[in-house]
Amino acid sequence: MPEGIVTVAYIAATILFILALGGLSHPETARRGNLYGIIGMSIAMLATIFGVVTANYLMLIAGLIAGGIIGLILARRVQMTQMPELVAILHSLVGLAAVLVGFVNFLDPEVHYTGVELTIHDVETYLGILIGAVTFSGSVIAFGKLSGKIGGAPLTLPARHWLNLALLLIAIWYGYQFVVQSAAGGGLVPLLIMTAAALLFGIHMVMAIGGADMPVVVSMLNSYSGWAAAATGFMLSNDLLIVTGALVGSSGAILSYIMCRAMNRRFLAVIAGGFGTAGSAAVGTGGDQGEVVPVNAMEAANLLVGSKEIMIVPGYGMAVAQAQHIVCEITKILRDKGINVRFGIHPVAGRMPGHMNVLLAEARVPYDIVFEMDEINEEFPDIDVSIVIGANDIVNPSAQEEPDSPIAGMPVLEVWKGRTTIVLKRSMATGYAGVQNPLFFKDNTRMLFGDARESLDEVLMEI
Ligand code: NDP
Repeated sequence: MPEGIVTVAYIAATILFILALGGLSHPETARRGNLYGIIGMSIAMLATIFGVVTANYLMLIAGLIAGGIIGLILARRVQMTQMPELVAILHSLVGLAAVLVGFVNFLDPEVHYTGVELTIHDVETYLGILIGAVTFSGSVIAFGKLSGKIGGAPLTLPARHWLNLALLLIAIWYGYQFVVQSAAGGGLVPLLIMTAAALLFGIHMVMAIGGADMPVVVSMLNSYSGWAAAATGFMLSNDLLIVTGALVGSSGAILSYIMCRAMNRRFLAVIAGGFGTAGSAAVGTGGDQGEVVPVNAMEAANLLVGSKEIMIVPGYGMAVAQAQHIVCEITKILRDKGINVRFGIHPVAGRMPGHMNVLLAEARVPYDIVFEMDEINEEFPDIDVSIVIGANDIVNPSAQEEPDSPIAGMPVLEVWKGRTTIVLKRSMATGYAGVQNPLFFKDNTRMLFGDARESLDEVLMEI
């Protein structure tokens, strides 16, 4: 394929990726955005295979088929609740690819640079491997934490900031050594030492971040995977990889910023780690909090039917119970009765950015009744009944009332300001941040215990 056609194909793919990102910013256009992304990626792959690759076609096609089949099986099997883990492990693959490409590129006897060109190439290799290694090991730990294989508690080693600093200095020093020794024909040993330091840094960084701050980590690793791809693009002199990596890197960075703002955290404080607690141990708000008031499905249905303004607040439990379709049915029936039903979505509800929006869109809940926290939080005093479906941390008043709480300062949906709140969950267990929730003990809260889908099935029948 002539070089000109490859360039045109790359420009087309870049435009399609930008359109894809634009489309993904709203549920109504997300499908189209995804389609643009698929077409862009197909064009990019075809142009690369037929225009850039010159040898080893058999190996390439075998790899494509094997990777394609694994991807297809994973995508078909994965539950909505496992999506965050899948995303984390996919980020780790981007990081691993950057590390491997970096080493292969360095060891390739056919790559000959001299003078300044060699130095620039070495710096590109160094950065690709550094960012790739941090992304790889950090994402593997994030996968472990999100899937519950590793405890959510932050690992706070006594001198953790010094350890981070030492690892950073090692990475810089051996990076310098690598560039110097590479000019003399060596450089492998410092490159390996630097890679080990970067791997350790990735592990330590994510281990030190507690449950409550994981949303920032997920989006941050997303960003890192982009920068790792961009660095690989520089290494391979592939413009499309540079642009695509930069798009992923910068959109991930913006997402991290949005997540930090949603949780009222400073980015550097999150990275330095030490916040949040394990998902299992209940902390904060210790001692006797009083009694909870359980209700049954009939009482819950009566409360709903007797109200004019209803706010539905979904959380991670709705995803676990796969209750979104039944929620949509109940919403339709209540709206047909003339009741104003709206949804309040917290930016970190669930286990990945936009988790709730995806579920509600899948169940075909109309977009115009789904509101972001900032748009809706002041309305709660006028709400007759709020239904909290499998949400916990995002409606926890201790974020406002207890300065020592691990989630202190995090903006939350103020459901308790409404007339009545019905909370659907299976037990009194805590949420991801491991913090007990005083909402459950408030006078105007009613607990409907059980799996959210089963409870809502009964509520629907009663309605
Ligand atoms: P939480 O994890 O705080 O609470 C979920 C609640 O759902 C639990 O208390 C659980 O209680 C209940 N639940 C679980 N399964 C069911 C079921 N089948 N039926 C009914 N209830 C169920 O979720 P939130 O959405 O409120 O908050 C999200 C948390 O996750 C935040 O701490 C956030 O920081 C964190 N996080 C968010 C990410 C993101 O990007 N959005 C990424 C990583 C972490 P019980 O067991 O009693 O049923």
